[in-house]
Amino acid sequence: MSANEILSKISVIEEHVPGAKTLGPMRRYAQITTLVLLVLIPASGLFRIDVPAGGVLMWDRLVWFSDIFIIMGFWIFIASLLVMMYSLVGSVFCGWMCPQNTVSEWANTLTDRLLGRRAKMMDMTGSRMQVAVRRKSLLNYVILGSLLFGASLVYALIPMFYFYSPQAIWSFVSFQYDPELAGALHWIYMVCVFVMLINIVAIRHLMCKYMCIYRVWQHSFKTRDTLHVSYDATRADHCTNCRYCVDSCFLDIDPRQPEVFDSCVNCGACVVACDALHSKSKKLEGPGLLRLSFGDEWKGKYRGALGSFFNRARTATLATVIGAAMLVFGLVTYEPASFSVYRGESQQGSQLIDYRINLAYKVNHPEQMHIRVEGLDSSQYTLEKDVVQFEHAGRQDVVLHIRDGLPEGLYRFRVVVTADNGWSRVFSVVHFATPQHQSTS
Ligand code: SF4
Ligand code: SF4
Repeated sequence: MSANEILSKISVIEEHVPGAKTLGPMRRYAQITTLVLLVLIPASGLFRIDVPAGGVLMWDRLVWFSDIFIIMGFWIFIASLLVMMYSLVGSVFCGWMCPQNTVSEWANTLTDRLLGRRAKMMDMTGSRMQVAVRRKSLLNYVILGSLLFGASLVYALIPMFYFYSPQAIWSFVSFQYDPELAGALHWIYMVCVFVMLINIVAIRHLMCKYMCIYRVWQHSFKTRDTLHVSYDATRADHCTNCRYCVDSCFLDIDPRQPEVFDSCVNCGACVVACDALHSKSKKLEGPGLLRLSFGDEWKGKYRGALGSFFNRARTATLATVIGAAMLVFGLVTYEPASFSVYRGESQQGSQLIDYRINLAYKVNHPEQMHIRVEGLDSSQYTLEKDVVQFEHAGRQDVVLHIRDGLPEGLYRFRVVVTADNGWSRVFSVVHFATPQHQSTS
């Protein structure tokens, strides 16, 4: 017998635990980072909805909902990126980033620890909740209830960051008065807490299975080439009397029989479980039988899967480019201020004598604007004020009063507004001085 033949008969046990060592912690970091970002993005002022101003605050700029290129471009860009993400990595967002899944997993773990693994809060089969005998104590129920309620209180605060500044939210939680806060906010918040409590106590992953809109997308964009759990069926004998991966799946999926359209969120828990099993077992050789992969990695179709993604992503890529182009155009042509002149309330008989100059400033920095009227003699009008001070983004009205007794006729004049930062615009007005008719343009 040759040396090579002797060597080939010595079995080599591969130490292979990549999933067990990295996937679990990586996923936790991703989930925590997402939650932190979810608060930091609005709290830092990067993105906050300003309902009274009718826009979105991005850094120190107010973008109105009517700034159509920025708003539409932004959403087309984000939506197309999500489509590409779905085409490439499937429901990774669900398992690694989605706050609903994060809180559901946390609530499941807590329930397992305090009431036992079979204590499912809501079971669609109608079976009764089964609490482990040695965990049946009032204290466990109280601890579980308190923690779930506490989480609901915190979670319900997150959406508020998208509407209020951190200072206003601090005033809210510390019961201090803040003019920024809506009067009925405490009631709205209590409704949010109640909904969140129902969600954390009972709904949990039922939301992912039956209610999530994002998951509906998978029917349009997911294929066999999208990232999914793949199973090495050639070593199926390892699975005799083993269901470790099935038990580790919080969505009750059997990852050995993956479907294109299922509830799998690519969390990798089953991969971790099988890898850990193989690394600890003296009988089972080689790495785990499960892996997150594109195409059918076990059959060497890995590259074809990526090529297929680029084919499928053509439309989404085009949408991304269009969205990005609209966004850039909107940002380049963004106006930090605007103003208009419209008819005021005061009339002398049927004669209009007041105009209202509405100034809008869209940057959250102090700024001064100067108003002047061209084309009318100063004796023919009165301007309420010719300098307007803004401390932050907002609107202010200035009244332009046309003196009565003007000789009958048509008066064309221009209102010019100039900001200290160099911005300047002109609005043309046509005024009819006649006892019978009046109009503007
Ligand atoms: S954990 Fe691994 S060995 Fe066990 S059933 Fe699942 S795939 Fe088979
Ligand atoms: S099948 Fe595996 S990857 Fe999919 S959800 Fe279940 S544990 Fe996670």
